[in-house]
Parts: sequence; C-alpha cells; structure tokens
Amino acid sequence: MVELTLTDVTKRYDDTQGTEVAVDDLSLTVEDELVVLLGPSGCGKTTTLRMIAGLETVTDGRISIDGRDVTDLHPSDRSIAMVFQDYGLYTTMSVRENMAYGLKHSTSLSASERRDRVEEMATMFGIEDLLARDVSDLSGGQKQRVALGRAMVREPDVFLLDEPLASLDAKLRSEMRTELQQLQSRLDITTVYVTHDQKEAMTMADRVVVLDGGRLQQVGPPEEVYASP
Ligand code: ADP
Ligand code: ADP
Repeated sequence: MVELTLTDVTKRYDDTQGTEVAVDDLSLTVEDELVVLLGPSGCGKTTTLRMIAGLETVTDGRISIDGRDVTDLHPSDRSIAMVFQDYGLYTTMSVRENMAYGLKHSTSLSASERRDRVEEMATMFGIEDLLARDVSDLSGGQKQRVALGRAMVREPDVFLLDEPLASLDAKLRSEMRTELQQLQSRLDITTVYVTHDQKEAMTMADRVVVLDGGRLQQVGPPEEVYASP
C-alpha cells in the first residue's frame, strides 16, 4: 500500500516574460491505482509529474508519500521511477547495463541479486533475449520495454509515466497498452500516467484527473468523467 498525496501544490515559473502559473493549487491522492492526468498541451501535466519526481521544485504546497514529505528530498532519495516518451535510455549501453543502472542507488543488493532482478524484470517485459544487445539497435517498442524494465527494476513506491506510448505506432501502442494494464492490475502500483489521448485514458485509468490551465477540472472513474457534459 502506497499513498501519494499532493496538497495545494502550485508551480509558478517567473521569467522576463512575467509569471506563468503552470500548476494551480492542485490536491490529489493516488493509492495503489493508476491515475491518468489528462488535458490539452500546456495544462500542467508534465510539470506535475516532474514535481513528484523531484525534477522540478514546488512553489507552494506539499507532496508526500505515505505521510512523509518528499518535497525536500533529492530525486535519488525518492522511491519513484519515471518513464518518458522518448525512452531516456543510455544509448551507448547494452540493455542489461541500462536496466542495471536503475539499481545504481540500491547499495544493499549484491551483484548476483542485481543480476537476478534485471533478468526477472526483463522476462516480465519480454526482453530477456535482448539483454546483451546495444540499445541503439532496438526498435521503438523494444526501447520502451527496456525503459519500463529499467524503471520497475527498482521496485519503486511510485511509478510515473509521461506519454510513454506516444512515440509508438498505433498497433504497438495498443499492444503495450494491454501489457501495461495487465502489469498494473497484477501489481496494483501507485501510478500517475500522463497522456493527452482520451482513448488511452479511458482504457488504462482507474481514475482520470482532467486538468485545464493548471487547475483540476474533474476527477473520477473514466466512465463518470466521460459521461458528464
Ligand atoms: P503539459 O505537460 O500539460 O503540456 P506543461 O506542464 O509542460 O504542460 O506546461 C504547463 C505550463 O507551464 C505551460 O504554459 C508551459 O508553457 C509552462 N512551462 C512549462 N515549463 C516551463 C518552464 N521551464 N519555464 C516557463 N514556463 C514553463
Ligand atoms: P545522480 O548520479 O546524481 O543520481 P542521475 O544520472 O542518476 O545522477 O540523474 C539524476 C536524477 O535525474 C536521478 O536521480 C533521477 O531522479 C533523474 N533521472 C535522470 N534520468 C532519469 C530517468 N531516465 N528516469 C527517471 N529519472 C531520471
């Protein structure tokens, strides 16, 4: 059981152009479920995810995991893994090295435990035959499986996905959607999933959060959110 809580979270960017409120007083709890952040480009989805990951500071409010404030923790001290649209893999490394990199901070694991974890996760994502390959030789779908495996190998408390399927073609996207759904329903991970694709939101989400201009517009199970005017 992992509870991620955002309380009155605001993000303001100040620059020479003035002030941009990217996220405006957002409160949200995610617990052992997949919550989709949905909304048009510029509504604050990515900024929200990056604040949870610690890649962006919070202007106001707090973010906590199981009641513990994470806002001041260094990214590597948060038990959070993030997957990006463009994979974010280390292109000069093999699949195995990329996945093992996810365990870099897990100092309590022995070398053989690390190897076992990597192989177990590779099997889960169907890439066990690719472990020795260079990442640069892989197809888009294979790369995204490696990125998911690298994130999950750490057994994070919170899993963040930013348009993880957007670079894939339609067929692969629908395949991966099914696989991610199965993984989610098997493991009940506390997951925040960003997309602007309504179909993706509809099929993947336990609950959908609709953002507009950095504000929460609606939250609920997909069938409720889509049924309302
Ligand atoms: P989304 O992911 O929904 O497309 P973003 O979170 O990327 O939205 O952006 C939300 C708003 O914050 C947008 O208006 C965007 O222009 C602004 N923004 C995002 N990053 C920065 C930044 N580094 N500096 C200034 N404004 C930014
Ligand atoms: P450090 O050795 O300082 O931890 P890293 O290369 O691990 O440097 O990156 C710094 C931080 O940036 C990481 O702790 C992580 O939170 C974030 N980061 C970098 N790449 C990724 C990625 N692919 N997925 C998730 N977070 C990442």
